[in-house]
Amino acid sequence: MEHRQILTNALAENTEALAALERDHARMVEASLDSNADDEHDPEGATIAFEREQITAALARTRAARERIDAALAELEAGRYGICSSCEKPISLERLEARPLATQCIRCASTR
Ligand SMILES: [Zn+2]
Repeated sequence: MEHRQILTNALAENTEALAALERDHARMVEASLDSNADDEHDPEGATIAFEREQITAALARTRAARERIDAALAELEAGRYGICSSCEKPISLERLEARPLATQCIRCASTR
């Protein structure tokens, strides 16, 4: 796969994940509005609070990943994407396909 393709795929995946999480989040907000699901003493409420935390955390992670993908796309435009931040050598395509946001080559990442 080409660099641009790797990032395009990562962006598409992220967009999809974000949309799904935003739907879950909206549903969750709605559900908590028409019930007193916030009550910590209600075992059901505790489960919902836990789920809410999970969704909120996943949303934050996915949004942060989106920013990193956008930054990687800017690096791609600048011809800097896929260059190891430590040794300045190209990161293998294999590694980038597995981890599109890797900033270090496998060698530098494993000596850390
Ligand atoms: Zn390196």
